[in-house]
Amino acid sequence: MGSWYLLKCTNCNYEVESSAGLDEGFLGIVQTHICNECKTLVDVLIEHNGQIVQKKICNKCKSDKISTWDTKDKPCPKCDFRMSIGDEPIAMWD
Ligand SMILES: [Zn+2]
Ligand SMILES: [Zn+2]
Repeated sequence: MGSWYLLKCTNCNYEVESSAGLDEGFLGIVQTHICNECKTLVDVLIEHNGQIVQKKICNKCKSDKISTWDTKDKPCPKCDFRMSIGDEPIAMWD
């Protein structure tokens, strides 16, 4: 079971719903990444049915130019400002 949070950048007003790190759902394990192609935060499937996913891609633009999102610095993919995370999960999925 997983949960989503609302992530917000107060600098450029970018807003995204994300698992904000590692999360486990019914499809497998997802991890939040920054897509360097479309400059968004995307939750990428990294393990599927117990198998490591070899080719991790952005599920928005299908680019493989993605990098793991730093859950300590929480950088905004648009402007690098530190993003804030809502306290309460906004959605549950499993
Ligand atoms: Zn920003
Ligand atoms: Zn992308």
